[in-house]
Amino acid sequence: IPLPHGTCSCHCCAVRLYFFFPLPCRNAAETRALYERYKPTHVIHLAALVGGLFKNIKYNLDFWRRNVHINDNVLHTAYEFGVQKVVSCLSTCIFPDKTTYPIDETMIHNGPPHSSNFGYSYAKRMIDVQNRGYFEQHGCRFTAVIPTNVFGPHDNYNIEDGHVLPGLIHKVYLAKKNGTALTVWGTGKPRRQFIYSLDLARLFLWVLREYDEVEPIILSVGEEDEVSIREAAESVAEAMDFKRELIFDVTKSDGQFKKTASNGKLRRHLPDFKFTPFKQAVKETCDWFCANYAIARK
Ligand code: GDP
Repeated sequence: IPLPHGTCSCHCCAVRLYFFFPLPCRNAAETRALYERYKPTHVIHLAALVGGLFKNIKYNLDFWRRNVHINDNVLHTAYEFGVQKVVSCLSTCIFPDKTTYPIDETMIHNGPPHSSNFGYSYAKRMIDVQNRGYFEQHGCRFTAVIPTNVFGPHDNYNIEDGHVLPGLIHKVYLAKKNGTALTVWGTGKPRRQFIYSLDLARLFLWVLREYDEVEPIILSVGEEDEVSIREAAESVAEAMDFKRELIFDVTKSDGQFKKTASNGKLRRHLPDFKFTPFKQAVKETCDWFCANYAIARK
């Protein structure tokens, strides 16, 4: 199912831009039919099987197989249709588990990923391998971005399978309704850099229009903006005016302790880009979820 399509919003160029959802791209013939129907010149490739830590732990094989199929369908069909540019989406969770910090774009293939999400990580790393291959063999401008932990309106708020912020927002909503405490999974000590989906969308369009390299670029707030899971939970509680106790369930996995990424390359290109302050973005997201509870994906 292609999402909003049409010409790019700057109105000065005739970019035909399409977003793809995962389902059609799992099948080569359906993917081809999409390209035939819309004839995109530029593609932002967001199609993937994704999930939070706990879904990854359960389905590593599925994450590997489905993402490899999707990526090969989207990229190879783009090549066959002469698409001018593809921007694919990786993630900072694909970097080596044992590494030095901050992580940067040169380190993707330097060692095994964290065992909790090896299927997703290796599948996503192969996008970078494919991009290099399409450039060297065919001169294609296919690149990739590496966002940190994304959150915002329209996210997947499923508690078991979703990422930490939407999961916590949903849990606080229920805890308020039921008059119970909030259970945060793990110790609350791991650290994450969160990026607001609306900021990420603006950066995606910049990459599509201006960024000319095949090598990926990390899209992240600064290292100084990294927060602990406890701080993230407290921000959600504050935004939703939740006053009860926070309980840390240490029987649940912490996952990777941190994956602190450098946004040095982004800052060299875009020194003045303004990220939405974390607390403001959390508040907007919580307000969206409460106002749209009936229709939110959960
Ligand atoms: P990750 O950033 O790729 O590891 O994935 P997540 O967005 O799922 O974040 C996982 C981190 O948040 C781990 O340290 C979890 O222990 C912690 N966490 C705390 N509460 C929750 C929750 O309700 N859902 C999820 N997904 N993670 C939680």
